[in-house]
Amino acid sequence: LFLAGAFIAGFLILLRRLLIRRRLSLHALVQRGIVKREFIPYYQPIINLKTKELYGCEVLARWKKKGVGLISPMEFIPYVEKSGQIIPITNLLIEKTIKDLSTINWQLTDRVISINLVPQQLENLQIMNESLALFSNSKIPVKQIAFEITERKQFEDLTIASEVIQYLKTQGIDIKLDDAGTGYGGFSYIQELNLRSLKIDKMFVENIGTTDIKLSLLDSIIAFGKQAGMEMIAEGVETKEQSDYLVERDVYLQQGYYFGMPMNAEEFSIYNIEIKNK
Ligand code: C2E
Ligand code: CA
Ligand code: CA
Ligand code: CA
Repeated sequence: LFLAGAFIAGFLILLRRLLIRRRLSLHALVQRGIVKREFIPYYQPIINLKTKELYGCEVLARWKKKGVGLISPMEFIPYVEKSGQIIPITNLLIEKTIKDLSTINWQLTDRVISINLVPQQLENLQIMNESLALFSNSKIPVKQIAFEITERKQFEDLTIASEVIQYLKTQGIDIKLDDAGTGYGGFSYIQELNLRSLKIDKMFVENIGTTDIKLSLLDSIIAFGKQAGMEMIAEGVETKEQSDYLVERDVYLQQGYYFGMPMNAEEFSIYNIEIKNK
């Protein structure tokens, strides 16, 4: 925690220096990052413990800035969501993901590529179509794409979002409710948007093995998901104990440091070869 604090403080000081020295606004700094294509995808494996195979991966943004290093999404996603720069950044990530995964023949498998979106991207069919067009020029079939949409953020226009989501579904794209259980919109989103899958947030998984009251919330979310016939992915699985607890409750799709950290394209490519030879 101390290290993380020191890291963040260090980053903020650096960022401020950059801003003062160059008289750049954060907006301009991000804009420059977009033009220089400094935003890159990291990949974290999602495992299917029933088949013992790779289910797919989640694409997680990193800002690789010269002289600064790798910047965590926590540092810039909240800002770029507000500024709207999340849209070109997402498209950049999609372009790079397509390129990276083509080198490991991802298109020959039926693995899922799960991409994080913010509500504003699902509230605008034109924005959505521009992102989808990137895939249509690739070898990756649209059916292998999933979008994660956090329940922590509210939709401004649920009616439009619902239309866009139904359209995406007809294309074979799965929409997953992200951070399930942590926000307000959750269960109404599942109903109104007719979602078929959810991701259980790590804040619930980390309580496995403790006597924390949140453990009963985890059990409730799983019970709800089962009742509704939803596909469930647990995130933040760090230990065998957590993994076993979830498997005992039929949550076979799991993601977390126990199976693999988010990694760059090269590392992920090696990970893929290793899992194939297992
Ligand atoms: P998220 O969507 O909930 O993603 C899961 C986060 O948990 C990731 O953090 C991942 O590295 C971390 N994680 C995975 N397994 C474990 C584990 O076993 N233990 C612990 N302690 N953490 C684990 P990351 O990569 O720092 O991303 C943070 C958040 O930033 C994401 O949370 C997501 O909300 C947002 N984000 C990242 N990339 C994008 C993006 O391209 N677009 C948007 N809109 N948001 C993004
Ligand atoms: Ca996510
Ligand atoms: Ca999230
Ligand atoms: Ca989460």
